[in-house]
Amino acid sequence: MAGTRGAPDRHAEPAADALLAWYDRAHRALPWRAPPGARPDPYAVWLAEIMLQQTVAAAVAPRFRRFLDTWPDIHALAAADRDAVLRAWAGLGYYARARNLHACARAVVERHGGEFPRGEAALRALPGIGAYTAAAIAAIAFDAPATVVDGNVERVMARLFAVGEPLPGARGVLRAHAAGLTPRRRPGDYAQAVMELGATVCRPRNPRCGECPWRGSCRARALGAAGELPRRAPRPPRPLRRGVAFWIVRGDGAALFERRPDRGLLGGTLGLPSTEWTEAPPARVEPPVPALGLRALPGAVEHGFTHFRLELRVRAGRARPPAAEGIWLRPDEIDLRALPTLTRKLVVLARGGGGA
Ligand code: SF4
Repeated sequence: MAGTRGAPDRHAEPAADALLAWYDRAHRALPWRAPPGARPDPYAVWLAEIMLQQTVAAAVAPRFRRFLDTWPDIHALAAADRDAVLRAWAGLGYYARARNLHACARAVVERHGGEFPRGEAALRALPGIGAYTAAAIAAIAFDAPATVVDGNVERVMARLFAVGEPLPGARGVLRAHAAGLTPRRRPGDYAQAVMELGATVCRPRNPRCGECPWRGSCRARALGAAGELPRRAPRPPRPLRRGVAFWIVRGDGAALFERRPDRGLLGGTLGLPSTEWTEAPPARVEPPVPALGLRALPGAVEHGFTHFRLELRVRAGRARPPAAEGIWLRPDEIDLRALPTLTRKLVVLARGGGGA
């Protein structure tokens, strides 16, 4: 294996044509995908790519259709109410993506007259479009020879070339291998094909090497090491942060919420007011508005973020009249489906703990 043990040297270079022939007959029909050889609507490609960043294709498909029914083109999405977009996004992962989706639609309309730019650099200048998404749109929508590297492609490259160096350190090497294979003929179909191979054949567990168009070129297969690759450096344990959230209820039964700043965790979403989230116990636990009868509710809400785990306890009380200004939602106005998961868990705990 490269960097770790001896690998056979004589392997045919994986051929793009073999992969394309496999893709032509074996690709899945997905609602955002055009048939091989045809180019899909850039709006649909972009929307699908943003949705697929955190969710698998089967779960994205119905949500994608609903989005397109509601906002059939970039102009409709740019003109949409942002809260409506955030609500429609519930369950699809980070809300920052939905905020950026809306901001990107506006930017495409304002800066580019409603047409997505074709180049990767111009695409990357748009909100929420990083290196991967820019390459995916350039390749899939415009048939540009961009190198598209997602987790599927990394896995396929690690196996094809028996790269033993662990991720994330191996990213540069894997990208270089991916770039070296990207053809000038049908690069858009090729980009989809290599990701499709990773999703359906070169799967994380139990790869179906017998069905793989690149099996004759695959070093990991020759070494019997496909299941061991790619390697990953062990992740450091995530620290635990703690905090206290407040469930403050007004005389008419409305509870106090706050909208988080656009930038940062759960940006732009509704949450319950809380103390800072810190590894040390919070120094001051004071309600956001004057409150009466404040008491700690039993239990706690646990939630995992990428870089830390969070444990929030809840204190419930009544707002001292006259209630301060803020976002007060009556029970019939609290739509659990539209709240981010963390807020939903807090509301459920607060209601179950006699806080409503
Ligand atoms: Fe993946 Fe197996 Fe194909 Fe190698 S032969 S690329 S391990 S599916």
